[in-house]
Amino acid sequence: MEYKIVLMPGDGIGPEIIKEAKKVLDTIAKIYGHEFSYEELLLGGKSIDVYGEPLTDVAIEKAKKADAVLMGAVGADAKTSPWYKLDPEKRPEAGLLKLRKELKLFANLRPAYLHNALKESCPIKEQFYQTEINLMIVRELTGGLYFGERNTTVESGIRKAFDTLTYDENEIRRVAKKAFDIAMKRKKKVTSVDKANVLDSSRLWRTIIEEVAMAYPEVTLEHMLVDNCAMQLISNPGQFDVILTENMFGDILSDEASMLTGSIGMLPSASLNETSFGLYEPSHGSAPDIAGKGIANPVAAILSAAMLLRYSLSMDTEANAIENAVNEVLNAGYRTLDIMSENKIRVSTEEMGDLIIKKIQ
Ligand code: NAD
Repeated sequence: MEYKIVLMPGDGIGPEIIKEAKKVLDTIAKIYGHEFSYEELLLGGKSIDVYGEPLTDVAIEKAKKADAVLMGAVGADAKTSPWYKLDPEKRPEAGLLKLRKELKLFANLRPAYLHNALKESCPIKEQFYQTEINLMIVRELTGGLYFGERNTTVESGIRKAFDTLTYDENEIRRVAKKAFDIAMKRKKKVTSVDKANVLDSSRLWRTIIEEVAMAYPEVTLEHMLVDNCAMQLISNPGQFDVILTENMFGDILSDEASMLTGSIGMLPSASLNETSFGLYEPSHGSAPDIAGKGIANPVAAILSAAMLLRYSLSMDTEANAIENAVNEVLNAGYRTLDIMSENKIRVSTEEMGDLIIKKIQ
């Protein structure tokens, strides 16, 4: 059976790291006898340069017909790039938001896993997490503050702006189900994060989460206020299994959690809809400061490819093979610059990709 994978390398370091992830997928295809067909499409600034818009309708249609999309990152330095002189809805990031909305990707999965070999880069002392740091943030992705009504006005010479945070129960229910399903395959614990002491949308969130939890008696559910969760991620990150939260809280908490792992260059992500289709991308941005230098860490992109195999193609063995290979390469002491430490062996983007492939083989 042939699987169609759309590649959207995007901007900055995107093309460099997606090249390595594709090499890894090719290796998996060869070893396990799969057939992956690829189509490469423009997204973000590269699409603006060619088509005048960050995402074309043609690209959306092609993505919809694929089994999965593997994306790099979009964007550039907003101070210097001409892309940021355009209206906000024409900028690179708007292409990504549109893609998520069009593909109805409502659940964003961001694991934060501290590799044993990278413990020295974790800013938290080991005594504070005792066991291990291995959590999954499930963030609602297509509702809330990022998609609500907003406006900026001037009234009697005073500038004013507003944004709105809205959720309906169906939006909450479907992402909650994904989170509980994932928890069932992990340590069976969901921490639902909200601001129910202040926000109506959070109070509805809590009610619906409680309703969904009734269908998962094996899963332990706890509620936590977002400010407390921000503290607990630092003071006791080992307590978490699945953190379930709305769009903006999830955006902030997942970046915070990413730092527990030492580098944002290590972290993959998946965005899922009701079907097996998913969009897979590293958690980091386009890193314009290091683009073109051959020093970007490709591991987040490579682990995103592993998530693609697991969640869209149901290839758990193949996904495990990639994750184990990454662990072995780190254990053997190889590091890109972002995770480099004393007595370790510094490697380039391409060398890191090659080492991982060798381990898979
Ligand atoms: P960033 O994640 O691109 O970079 C933050 C820091 O982390 C930089 O110092 C960068 O060099 C480093 N870094 C990131 N990925 C790395 C990797 N794989 N290897 C080594 N180091 C890495 O965030 P930013 O600087 O705030 O944003 C840069 C651009 O990316 C902006 O235009 C922003 O809008 C965009 N962005 C895009 C996405 C996305 O496409 N999903 C996400 C976040 C930011």
